[in-house]
Amino acid sequence: MKKSSKIKLIVMSHPDDAELSCGGSVVKWTQRDDVYYIIVSSGEKGSWDKKESVFDIGKKREKEAIKAADYLGVKKVIFLKYSDGDVVEVKTLKLEIAALIRYIKPDTIVTHDPLWSRYFHPDHRATAHAAIEGAMIAREWHFYPFLREIGLPPHRPGELLLTPTDRPTIINDITNTIDKKVESMKFHKSQVKQLPEWEQRIRDFARIVGEKAGFEYGEGFYRIQL
Ligand SMILES: [Zn+2]
Repeated sequence: MKKSSKIKLIVMSHPDDAELSCGGSVVKWTQRDDVYYIIVSSGEKGSWDKKESVFDIGKKREKEAIKAADYLGVKKVIFLKYSDGDVVEVKTLKLEIAALIRYIKPDTIVTHDPLWSRYFHPDHRATAHAAIEGAMIAREWHFYPFLREIGLPPHRPGELLLTPTDRPTIINDITNTIDKKVESMKFHKSQVKQLPEWEQRIRDFARIVGEKAGFEYGEGFYRIQL
């Protein structure tokens, strides 16, 4: 059995976001650490097929996410099942994330970069803000005292990693893991079938990020020490 050194909690809006943004790093992390996913929305609006039911799409995408996560060695996937596209409306999200941070006790929290300009999805910004605020609530003794009363005392994560980002302070070398990242994306069948050139796009983006640090392929993170 692997000796777990750290706990990493990855908080993303949709079922394919973790693999897309940091799948090459997840492969490396799961060799050593326990990695958990929180997926805020099951992405039920992520289809251009006018006849498909959003309920069916959501269910299908949850199954795809579990397969991809299993493939990468992720310990657990938690779905919060919020409406796709409306994450910004969810007022309880930061508190739910805070409670789960206190429960899972991660050393590192990974989420979207709310300032990343090339991806316009409002759910990514909303999820990032909720994860960042959730990390703060999780560590502060006087925030939401009911959490202590139900057996969830404060937990202080060591760092936040925001990805993808235009301002990386850490670039992980994923040259040896990019093939596994690409393989993990293939489990998101409902998504990749809509974008024929997806594999090339992933490789091109990883090459551009990696170049900055002298790697063939890379994934970038903006690190905030907590
Ligand atoms: Zn997304």
